[in-house]
Amino acid sequence: MATTKKDIRALTKEQLRDFFVKEGDKAFRGNQVYEWLWSKSAHTFDDMTNISKQTRQMLEDNFVINHIKVDTMQRSSDGTIKNAVKLHDGLVVESVLIPTETRTTACVSSQVGCSLDCKFCATARLKRMRNLNPDEIYDQVVAIDNESRLYHNRPLSNIVFMGMGEPLMNYNNVMKAIDKITSPEGLGMSPKRIVVSTSGVPKMIKKMADDEVKFNLAVSLHSAIDEVRTSIMPFNSTFPLVDLKESLEYWYAKTKRKITYEYVVWNGINDSKKDIDALVKFCKYVPCKVNIIEYNPIDDGEFQQATNQALDNYIIALERNRIVVNVRRSRGKDIDAACGQLANKS
Ligand code: SF4
Repeated sequence: MATTKKDIRALTKEQLRDFFVKEGDKAFRGNQVYEWLWSKSAHTFDDMTNISKQTRQMLEDNFVINHIKVDTMQRSSDGTIKNAVKLHDGLVVESVLIPTETRTTACVSSQVGCSLDCKFCATARLKRMRNLNPDEIYDQVVAIDNESRLYHNRPLSNIVFMGMGEPLMNYNNVMKAIDKITSPEGLGMSPKRIVVSTSGVPKMIKKMADDEVKFNLAVSLHSAIDEVRTSIMPFNSTFPLVDLKESLEYWYAKTKRKITYEYVVWNGINDSKKDIDALVKFCKYVPCKVNIIEYNPIDDGEFQQATNQALDNYIIALERNRIVVNVRRSRGKDIDAACGQLANKS
């Protein structure tokens, strides 16, 4: 039977303090419970051992803790871990731990499915069902941090919002989750270690700049030619490159932080000299770097990784123009955990 109790983690610390005062208790009790909920990630009220039994029962009568549950965990031969995470209403999202020699990165989801329809992406095939709550985003990070400590003997060092969903289409909840992740009462992580990756929603990029966010911005660009970009990322017809460029100039003017362009090169789609010249030109608008990402085919469809020669042509042209370029090999391919492969298959 559906519960009508409220999710206690939807309350701010002040609201929790007020709740306890109204119940005839001390406001300080709200701080204690808040600490249990966030920095100690309590799953049940009974975990809150410094709270009296009577108070725990009162909380139980009024609230629920809608904690996520890692339903299945798959480990790749390269150390990558993929979690299928069950939400309180039974829906499932995926998050990934990517270990390298120097860092362990959590790739987290922001929506169940996605509102956008990028043609090369497995998540796009699941239509958007709902936005994740701040606590559901936060819990994915906590689960991956625990796995990083357990399987790789080190805490999580970085977070990318590059899992399922377009984070800027769930702006308020993503910002609240990042506040918790960076707060000393949450995980206390530096915002410099967080990247929000967007397919490019100009209005929201400007809003982030106005909100003076401290994390980094990545844009899944994949083409700097409108016609090509619209054919692979249809929403580009609504948010064309001229608007994206303007929003990125605004971002840089306000934050002085470089932008990272994520870029996959596909056979016969964006591997020509014209495509390369367009990217070089686009990169000159705002200080940036380019990550060329290896593609993970999601089926035997039209999207196939370009040849090494095509990648080299991109690298040579970017470097000749003094644009920093990295090639990112994909991880976790054997468990469908690589970029663009998250589709609740497990
Ligand atoms: S690439 Fe990102 S924005 Fe595009 S459909 Fe997939 S999850 Fe959504």
